[in-house]
Amino acid sequence: MKVTIDHDECIGDGICENICPEVFELRDDGLAYVIAFEESPEIMAKIEEAIDECPTSAISMDEEEEEAEEG
Ligand code: SF4
Repeated sequence: MKVTIDHDECIGDGICENICPEVFELRDDGLAYVIAFEESPEIMAKIEEAIDECPTSAISMDEEEEEAEEG
């Protein structure tokens, strides 16, 4: 899995960092960044909460597949 933040959408309110500081960090430039990612159930639940709570839907989580072609 891969967590990304669309910086064109992020308004820097820090909600994601409040929910999951292990993964999200609000920096001086007013944007949130993904600083780490751990695929544990606890972290995944918090990431999903952050995705739900982000007011601009800037956070997304995608399957990271090396072969995206369908068989
Ligand atoms: S919750 Fe969304 S808008 Fe707020 S800082 Fe995080 S990514 Fe940016």
